Amino acid sequence: MSAYWGKYADELIRTAKYVATPGKGILAADESTTTIDARLSSINVENTEANRQALREMLFTAPGVHQYLSGVLMLEETLYQKTVAGKPFVKLLKEGGVMTGIKVDTGTIPLAGTNDETMTQGHDGLGARCKKYYDAGARFAKWRAVLKIGHTEPSELSVQQNAQGLARYAILCQENGLVPIVEPEVISDGTHDIRKCAEVTERVLSACYKALNDQHVLLEGTLLKPNMVTSGSDAPKVSSDIVAKFTVRCLQRTVPPAVPGIMFLSGGQSEEEATLNLNAMNALQTLKPWTLSFSYGRALQESVLKTWAGEKKNWVAAQRVLYNRAKANSEAVLGKYRGDSGGEAGNLFVRDYKY
Ligand code: 13P
Repeated sequence: MSAYWGKYADELIRTAKYVATPGKGILAADESTTTIDARLSSINVENTEANRQALREMLFTAPGVHQYLSGVLMLEETLYQKTVAGKPFVKLLKEGGVMTGIKVDTGTIPLAGTNDETMTQGHDGLGARCKKYYDAGARFAKWRAVLKIGHTEPSELSVQQNAQGLARYAILCQENGLVPIVEPEVISDGTHDIRKCAEVTERVLSACYKALNDQHVLLEGTLLKPNMVTSGSDAPKVSSDIVAKFTVRCLQRTVPPAVPGIMFLSGGQSEEEATLNLNAMNALQTLKPWTLSFSYGRALQESVLKTWAGEKKNWVAAQRVLYNRAKANSEAVLGKYRGDSGGEAGNLFVRDYKY
């Protein structure tokens, strides 16, 4: 390997392949301090640094969970945090075979010239930040772009701007040793049917891979974090089998086999729904040259949060809930989930979701 990725090419390929290990997935615990505020207030817990540390320590030290995880996504604050006993989170996870990922975007802003569409910020100083995060032990990164479905949306402008933004982020990560998770999320808000979601997701992913190639990104050293192809939040639901067929076909048409892993976001699906949909994809008998796995936030944490409720005495029970969900999703990555995980945290959909 030569050229653009410098000394990191082999390492990037190894890291991406590891994160995509069959049977493992990512715990997305990188909610911004504003987003975690809503989660914590839903269980009457104050949004202080100590409480955010406690939540994340509870998640990262859950007995038996590391075997089902290849990575954890954090935000900068968490990257430098330690357990109360003094062990850095990054070290604790590494000892359990879990790599640390870092959210490097700084959120969305309105995209001028569109009807409330957005673009994602965070390119300024990104190379230097990636270097700093690599030195702190991070090995992969995440950048979330948001596309919406409307009468005339996503506009071509938003598709192109967001694809360019993701590709720019990806190459800057690779230059500094971090595997970029490319996340173009087509949010499910709306009354559209699954066909419309499939058409838009194909358009968005095609533009992303064109931009990634144009910007000389090493695809073997990347991961994709897409939405599943589903009907809109305000339309009748479709079965897991249909979601699986539409989603896998969309990916077959757009994602090169050079990409080792596709780590889905849960996007407001219930915990059980997210697991069943993933399982149905992995059980499908068709060509799938990538690992199809999870990088769930809400669908791994919602019942855990409710069980924890901010009380130390509930740790063991809450960690058990996380264990059950992580195990169920691990089985779903292997297409072997039998729907027996128990526990379910209803509808997790939030309109116009910010991360
Ligand atoms: P959800 O699984 O809650 O959609 O979040 C995953 C994520 O990391 C979104 O950027």
